[in-house]
Amino acid sequence: MTHSHGWAAQGSTTPLAPFSFSRRDLHEHDVQVDIQYCGVCHSDIHSVRNEWQNAVYPMVPGHEIVGRVASVGSAVTRFKPGDLVGVGVIIDSCRSCASCKAGEEQYCEVGATLTYGVKDRYGDLTQGGYANNIVAPDHFVHSVSPKLDPAGVAPLLCAGITTYSPLRHWQVGPNQKVGVIGLGGLGHMALKFAHALGAHVVQFTTSESKVADAKRLGADEVVISKDAAAMKKQASSFDFIIDTVSAPHDINPYLEALKRDATYCQVGLPDKPPVIFPGHLIFKRRSWSGSIIGGMAETQQMLDFCAEKNIVADVEVIPIQKINEAFERVVKADVKYRFVIDMASLQQP
Ligand SMILES: [Zn+2]
Ligand SMILES: [Zn+2]
Repeated sequence: MTHSHGWAAQGSTTPLAPFSFSRRDLHEHDVQVDIQYCGVCHSDIHSVRNEWQNAVYPMVPGHEIVGRVASVGSAVTRFKPGDLVGVGVIIDSCRSCASCKAGEEQYCEVGATLTYGVKDRYGDLTQGGYANNIVAPDHFVHSVSPKLDPAGVAPLLCAGITTYSPLRHWQVGPNQKVGVIGLGGLGHMALKFAHALGAHVVQFTTSESKVADAKRLGADEVVISKDAAAMKKQASSFDFIIDTVSAPHDINPYLEALKRDATYCQVGLPDKPPVIFPGHLIFKRRSWSGSIIGGMAETQQMLDFCAEKNIVADVEVIPIQKINEAFERVVKADVKYRFVIDMASLQQP
């Protein structure tokens, strides 16, 4: 067994605290990664606090992982010790269902194996990236360009692919008008990607204070969504809108902003169903859809696209000792735009 140490929650109401555990010995297709950085995703907080009622403890969260390969199994050819790599939200899937065969492992029909908080195929509880190392099959490990800042790369493994995948699936590109709802961890990545793909990008936000930042991050226009008149002006003009907001909100004004045949895609996950006036869909054959992370090949494609376009997340790097404080600040949306833990801090007392 591989000795690991990280920070874990022992229950839904306890703060994260230092925790020692073990990882499996490498199977032939496994890669062991020494973790350098791990992003702090809002899902980590939902999971740790058992807000999705499926938590298993002790729980080491973290699924935005960047580090260096420490060792590889005998059948691994894509990686060697020292390579800079990333691990994201899933670390296994059945590999044989229609979705897995199509390279859409995130939609695995028997359920992909999450990076933390579930039983893996060996019956072990998976533990995530708030730790010094992780073991994962090579198919679920991605190459990271050394040209990019590794701390800024970490959030690409969840926030990045979650927004990149739908933009590619719905073929966002030049001569299109694309809307991004929400400017947080997910939203700021959607904005960067839509801009880099050549679209005319409109950022929707409730907050005047975010206008300048949205423009800096690539928005061609910023619309304050509380301004009904400003919203009306956008009617029937969008080719695609991506909604990154996880708090319940009225989506009808955005549906009306779509052109005929255009798509509204949810990537934020509110805990209450929205009320939709079906006429907004019917009268212009609009679609309301959703999307989650991306396949393994597409995740690599996204990382390569980021290397080519020099895209990383905007991050605030913290030591692990600040993680409980960081959780409170994420809940208050007080971060621009992602906390990333520097795992070298695990060595500190
Ligand atoms: Zn995440
Ligand atoms: Zn599958």
